[in-house]
Amino acid sequence: MRNILEVQDVKKYFPIGTNVFSFLYPGKKEYKKALDGVSLYIQEGRVSVLVGESGSGKTTLARVILRAIDPDSGSIIFNGDNITKKTGKELRNFRKQAQMIHQDPYSSINPLMKVFDIIKEPIDIFYKEYSDEERTKKILAVLDDVSLKPSTVFAEKYPHMLSGGERQRVAIARSLAIEPKIIIADEPVSMLDVSIRGQILQIVKQLSVNHKITVIYITHDLTTSRLIGDEISVMYAGKIVESGSIDSVFSNPLHPYTQALLDAVSEPNFQNVDKEKVVRIKNFDSAPAETGCKFFSRCPYSMDKCKIEPRLENKGQNHTVSCYLYDKE
Ligand code: SF4
Repeated sequence: MRNILEVQDVKKYFPIGTNVFSFLYPGKKEYKKALDGVSLYIQEGRVSVLVGESGSGKTTLARVILRAIDPDSGSIIFNGDNITKKTGKELRNFRKQAQMIHQDPYSSINPLMKVFDIIKEPIDIFYKEYSDEERTKKILAVLDDVSLKPSTVFAEKYPHMLSGGERQRVAIARSLAIEPKIIIADEPVSMLDVSIRGQILQIVKQLSVNHKITVIYITHDLTTSRLIGDEISVMYAGKIVESGSIDSVFSNPLHPYTQALLDAVSEPNFQNVDKEKVVRIKNFDSAPAETGCKFFSRCPYSMDKCKIEPRLENKGQNHTVSCYLYDKE
């Protein structure tokens, strides 16, 4: 299976502690390393989960991939094409193929517009050649795809007439309307009632299968990642620390941080997790280390050599980890 997206050694640092008076105090600037050399390979037509705690860099990575912000260094390769520095028409063409579903559907749908017009908006921008009849057909078809039926009834509603889950379905239908190749779903169910989270994720999974859309599902929640994911990458402090197939990572978590995340899952039906492999981290609130392994201060297995940064290495069947515990010598 080919990679539709490759993120190659991407860095994004944000200055911290700066304000309008900062020029009065010149000196060494400090930075938050939101992305500190991230490499990620996403296979076409699959659902890849990006998991990590708040502040680990997941959303920054999504914004860099979508070219909402520029990386400081590194490359984004989409469909074999380096899009890192694309502008104008080429960037617009990429944006048609890559869509985002946000945590809060209200942030992406206009509460004053009918569902019909909300979905029509991107069609008007990207498919100017469509006739009115083609536009209507497309709008009703994507409403069917997200199970908002009868579609003719839902098309006439306003967002305030819908439940949270229905609003998120409208946001998904809107993304789907322009036939993207890849969808990045950033915590799409975290604001929804627990009882409907599974339904929304199943819809996203079905869309991936039926329309061959690649999905990157961003979450802090390992429980839901199991419902939808084929592969998973675990992020900690701006780095990928482990990645592999969902089954491989969940049944044999290698990085102590992944093991700690699994330990934190309280879901009783969370199957196939080897509880022998979980670990309790120490110094829970300590900041990531500036040099060496970023997990050093929280890791119960830290040793001297961890003061030098470990590399992400393949430990078999594309299960990769950056940790010295698995060195042969
Ligand atoms: Fe722990 Fe060392 Fe592995 Fe980092 S490299 S996770 S400090 S054992």
